Formats: sequence, C-alpha cells, structure tokens
Amino acid sequence: MEELSHFINGQMVKGTSGRFADVFNPATGEVQARVPLASKEELDAAVAAAAEAQPAWGATNPQRRARVMMEFVRLLNRDMEKLAEALSREHGKTIPDAKGDVQRGLEVIEYCIGAPQLLKGEFTDSAGPGIDMYSMRQPLGVVAGITPFNFPAMIPLWKMGPALACGNAFILKPSERDPSVPLMLAELMKEAGLPDGVLQVVNGDKESVDAILDNETVQAVGFVGSTPIAQYIYSRGCANGKRVQCFGGAKNHMIIMPDADMDQAADALVGAGYGAAGERCMAISVAVPVGEETADRLIEKLVPRIEKLKVGPYTAGNDVDYGPVVTAAAKQNILGLVQSGIDQGAELVVDGRDFSLQGYEDGFFVGPHLFDRVTTDMDIYKKEIFGPVLSQVRAQTYEEALGHAMDHEYGNGTAIFTRDGDTARDFASRINIGMVGINVPIPVPLAYHTFGGWKKSGFGDLNQHGPDAFRFYTRTKTVTSRWPSGIKEGGEFNFKQMD
Ligand code: NAD
Repeated sequence: MEELSHFINGQMVKGTSGRFADVFNPATGEVQARVPLASKEELDAAVAAAAEAQPAWGATNPQRRARVMMEFVRLLNRDMEKLAEALSREHGKTIPDAKGDVQRGLEVIEYCIGAPQLLKGEFTDSAGPGIDMYSMRQPLGVVAGITPFNFPAMIPLWKMGPALACGNAFILKPSERDPSVPLMLAELMKEAGLPDGVLQVVNGDKESVDAILDNETVQAVGFVGSTPIAQYIYSRGCANGKRVQCFGGAKNHMIIMPDADMDQAADALVGAGYGAAGERCMAISVAVPVGEETADRLIEKLVPRIEKLKVGPYTAGNDVDYGPVVTAAAKQNILGLVQSGIDQGAELVVDGRDFSLQGYEDGFFVGPHLFDRVTTDMDIYKKEIFGPVLSQVRAQTYEEALGHAMDHEYGNGTAIFTRDGDTARDFASRINIGMVGINVPIPVPLAYHTFGGWKKSGFGDLNQHGPDAFRFYTRTKTVTSRWPSGIKEGGEFNFKQMD
C-alpha cells in the first residue's frame, strides 16, 4: 500500500511519528494509501526550517514572487487532468467537479500575481514641515493553514497563494482524508521556482494542529472546517497571541418566492443541494418556499429531477451527477440524521436509504433524500448534515422565510429566487449572512472579492482571498520621517578661495 509523505524543505519526507491514518477510495471503500500523522516534534522542525527560509523570500521583490505565481498557474493548467484524477480518487467527487475545485483555487493564484500592486503602501507627502509619512505592508513571517477534506485543492490554494505572495513562509496542514493533491501542489510550487522551505506540507491530525497553535514562531493561522473545530482553533490560537481566522460549517437556506420561475428554482436546488453529494459549505440544504401553493409546486418539480439523479463513481464518466461521501463514518452520520428526521415527524418524500450500486457495494454512496414539512426544532434543520439531503421548510410569508434564515446559527451563504427586484433588494440588505445569491443558488464570490460567512460560520474579522487575504497575511508598519535642513542650505557649492 502506498505510504504518503510530508513535503519539507522541497522534498517528500517520510513520517517518523509511527502514527498513520487510512486514506480511502470512497467509491470502492478500499484503503488506498496511508498518510503519516506528524508529531509535535516534526511540526516544530518544519516550522523552524520555514523560519530560516522566510527572510530571503520576504526580501525577494514582490514582482519576482508574482512571477513564481504566474508559472504556478501555468503548471496547474498543465497538470489539471492529473490533479483532478487524484482529487476524485481520494475525495469521490466527479472529474468535472474536481476540475472546478482546482480552477477556483487557481483563480486565487491568478489574483496573487497582482501582489506588487496589492502590496503597495500609502504615502503622505509633507504631513508637517519636512515630514513625510508612509505605511508599508510587511509579511508576518511563518504562517499556517489548516484545511478541510471537501475542497482539497481550492482551499489550500486560497491560503497558500496570498500567504506566499505576501512574502511569508507557509505551513499547510491539509485534511488527512485526501492529502495527495496538497502534496502535488507543493511539488508544483517548487517547480514554479518557490525556494525550498518556504512551503511545508505537514500531514497530521489534532496533534499537529495543536502544535501549530502552540508554536511561538507561527504568527497567523487560517482554518476552514467544521464549526466546533473552528471555535476551538480560534480560541486557542488567539489565546496564544496569533492572528486567527476560522471558517466553519453552514446551513444555507434558499427562499423561493411565489413569483419565481419554478423550473429554474428546481434546477438550481437540485444542483446546489446534491452536487458533490452535498459536501459543500455553500450547498443549499434548506429550501424555504413562501406559501403552500409554491411549496406544492416546488415539490412537484423537484421529485422527478431528484429521481433522475445519477449517483456513481468518478470513473463512470460525465454522466454521473455526484459520487460517494468521504468516509463510512460520514455516511453513517448522514443516515442517522435521516432517521432522526423521520422519527421527529418530517415527511420523507424521496428516500435514498436503500441506494446501492452494483460492483460498488462497499463504496460510501448515499442516495438522494428530500424531506418536506421540516420544522425548525428538528435535528435535520438545526444540524449541518453535509450529505445529499434537502429539507423543505414551508413558510407562509416572506418575513417568516427571512426570519428562518436569520435565526439559524449558521450564516455562510443564502439565496433568494424571485422575479421581483424590490424583494431581492430587501433580502440582500437585511439578511445577516455573508454571501447572498439572487437567482444564483451557490453565490461563491470570485477571487477578487472575498469569501466569508457570518455568525457561527466565521470567526475573526477578515475574509478569505481578495484584498482581505493581503491584509490578513501582512502587517502594517507606518513610518514618520523628518529630515532637518541639511546640505542644501548649509553646504558650500563654490570653489573655496584661499584666504
Ligand atoms: P473538520 O473540522 O473535521 O476538519 C478540518 C481540519 O481540522 C482538518 O485539517 C482536520 O485534520 C482538523 N481537525 C479535525 N478535528 C480536529 C481536532 N479535534 N482538533 C484539531 N484539529 C482538528 O472538517 P471537515 O470534515 O474536513 O470539513 C467539512 C466541514 O468544513 C464542514 O463543516 C463544512 O461546512 C466546513 N467548510 C467550511 C467552509 C467555509 O468556508 N466556511 C468551506 C469548506 C468546508
């Protein structure tokens, strides 16, 4: 069986802790590799080496750093097929979806090519007599990113791109469920010209995460994952004096107004609810139609679409709509929540519990589920399911629908489907959620805007990528400079005469 490595000082390095985690092929259920879980000592050594490499990288002019990013973009495009295949094999998502995962990360690297412009400081000429004032953005030093399984290319790229373009050294602790693509990204960065030691990939679990949080050299930590871990990392990292941003779980509502184009809304819901087996932090997991008639019409449109969904392995080609979930434990958790929905009185309109695929009986596949008449006190409404399960909550008025989305503890993304500009405008203005779609089900902002949820979906005060990332990974130094009158007044410019 393949034994994966860490990527330290420009080399693949075997783990020495003696601890490993299994990496599955979720389509077959087989263990296809084992990944080393770093000890505190291994993590600390990687950080120490990064601290040695960082000053020279930080002193490399931003344009040269940007050129590394430019070459890295070329290499990502060159290896797109290879990356997508490796990603699908460990994560389970379809090949087109895996390419999207790489692509949305690549776009952030493209944005980072603007580092020389983005890092320009501010200057006030003659702030006082003979006084100028200027601010510059300097790298923090060694920074770290801890990332989830569901976007093993995109989220590491969102973190490493801006951190490195700003002149930091970066420690990536990717998810132990699908670590191969992050390792491949590190090799490509080296090939693009990144000096050794500036990007270290340390595989691991809680032990290496805690080592990052307690390491005094690490100046900042960016985390993406589930909310309980986000809260834990935020509090421990902040208590240790680090700059920390943590992005957590989600329960994204889509409100469907009676005037919406119902076919369009149903198509959007099926894609946003079941794409990637619902394992997206921007997936729609709650549909809130306004009015009984809207709810009935929506169910009518949804059911045949859901029944037509093709669930299968990524190797089955472009026909497949979504693949397996990531682990057997994830599957058990999803099915447990489905059972709780039934027990607590929701109406299971599409039942995917008996789903099985010939030849892939041991794969972690979950058929699509649709619940109607879900109420806000049920577990399937309160908890993030992170699987192919869509819940419909019926609201009688727009205010009631808006209230559901606003009262939920998560605030990552949301959408409204309507033909009325005034309703859409009111929704966008009042909703307490970070990313809003108007007739767009998955409103993931592009690289040059920023990505971040509110409430229990985001901790810290700056978003991911876009201009915020350049603020997060730098600190500002402001210089006030005064040059008293010098040579130009007191100097003698003529040939001196001999007395
Ligand atoms: P997770 O919280 O289990 O793991 C995320 C990272 O934290 C991994 O690197 C993991 O090794 C580490 N980790 C896990 N348990 C830990 C512990 N006890 N102590 C320290 N570190 C620990 O999340 P996941 O299952 O990999 O990813 C799915 C979650 O991520 C979902 O909740 C999803 O909504 C969320 N997510 C959020 C966003 C966002 O931008 N808000 C984006 C993608 C995913």
